[in-house]
Amino acid sequence: MKVSVIGAGTMGAGIAQIASTNGHEVCLYDSFDGAIENAEKKLIKILNRLVEKERITKEENKNILDRINFSKEIKEVEGSGLIIEAIIENLDIKQKIFSEIEKIVDDKCILASNTSSLSIASIASACNKAERVIGVHFFNPAPLMPLVEIIPAVQTSKTTLNNTKSIIDSWGKVTVIAKDTPGFIVNRVARPFYGEALRIYEEGIADFATIDWAMREIGGFRMGPFQLMDYIGNDINYTVTETVFTSFYFDPRYKPSFTQKRMMEAGYLGRKTGRGYYDYSNEDIVIANEDRDLGKKILWRVLSMLINEAADALFLNIATKEDIDLAMTKGVNYPKGLLLWADEIGIENVLKQLEDLQTEYGEDRYRPSPLLKRMVAENKTFY
Ligand code: NAD
Repeated sequence: MKVSVIGAGTMGAGIAQIASTNGHEVCLYDSFDGAIENAEKKLIKILNRLVEKERITKEENKNILDRINFSKEIKEVEGSGLIIEAIIENLDIKQKIFSEIEKIVDDKCILASNTSSLSIASIASACNKAERVIGVHFFNPAPLMPLVEIIPAVQTSKTTLNNTKSIIDSWGKVTVIAKDTPGFIVNRVARPFYGEALRIYEEGIADFATIDWAMREIGGFRMGPFQLMDYIGNDINYTVTETVFTSFYFDPRYKPSFTQKRMMEAGYLGRKTGRGYYDYSNEDIVIANEDRDLGKKILWRVLSMLINEAADALFLNIATKEDIDLAMTKGVNYPKGLLLWADEIGIENVLKQLEDLQTEYGEDRYRPSPLLKRMVAENKTFY
């Protein structure tokens, strides 16, 4: 089956690499000057590195490249069985390209979007056959990150969902199915990892390095929240938070932080600008306050907020409990699924922490999910 990828940027090039590696004939299309050439150059470099590391043979390298048609002609997507769009995150432009593609491909072709924040229903509404439109959300870098969130819109048919899932499963990816709601699973459930860490900092409870240390050393997270925000970029991470906040009709649980906004405004975007919460231009090591009691308090507060999000996503049927846990372990490398973690530390303890925070601050931000209350009342566990 021929697979076409629209948009040859960071995500599109990676998705084309995956599809070609899995034996598909691929058309990678981009309309902007230089974009296709850049994508081809980058891909050659990546594949050469894989040959050096003996992950692929020279012959496989050649075959992967030979199967990809780097194209500036949208017409060349003709004959595809699956199209994955990964252009700029703009609804009008995405709708335009979807309706254009629909005229080129036949009725059976699945039209998928890699959007992070737009509703799949709104993208699908641009098509005559909206039932063949679906969301497939890869994580960056796409060839390395195992998770793909699959998002059927209200218009999407069961056949489209099943076929899309089996194609992406056959690429060796871990797929989870998420409801068409802001942030899908990962970008919704992960918000408190950043938001609560920023709040703890703003209250003066601990500095960046100490919060990072607590989440890494005591919580087992691969990176602390501030390290991770610096890695993602404060501009990107802030924008995701703001979009989720706005999309949820200003639910205070997702309120963005002024600390992060100021970092963005100052141009302290993180690693890519040499400075974010940390200064990457010198070798000075920032010393954390390795007080374990303080560390446990920090972890406990952030973790309770994360579990609350995961529980609320389950409460609102955003995904199954298994998929919520898989999404966080495979999409953002959490050391454990949040719902499984809740069982291990006791759901009643999580609920008590949230109720204490809500009483102390009087903020709706800390309201516990009704599901946690129900489970404690019925003495149940998630697994
Ligand atoms: P990018 O800016 O790296 O690439 C976008 C590409 O699309 C560019 O090469 C641009 O030339 C091309 N393009 C723009 N408009 C076009 C049009 N009308 N026709 C053809 N090509 C066009 O962006 P990206 O980071 O790869 O993101 C692409 C999509 O993937 C977005 O919807 C984004 O939300 C989503 N996404 C991004 C990430 C990430 O971490 N970068 C992760 C998951 C999903």
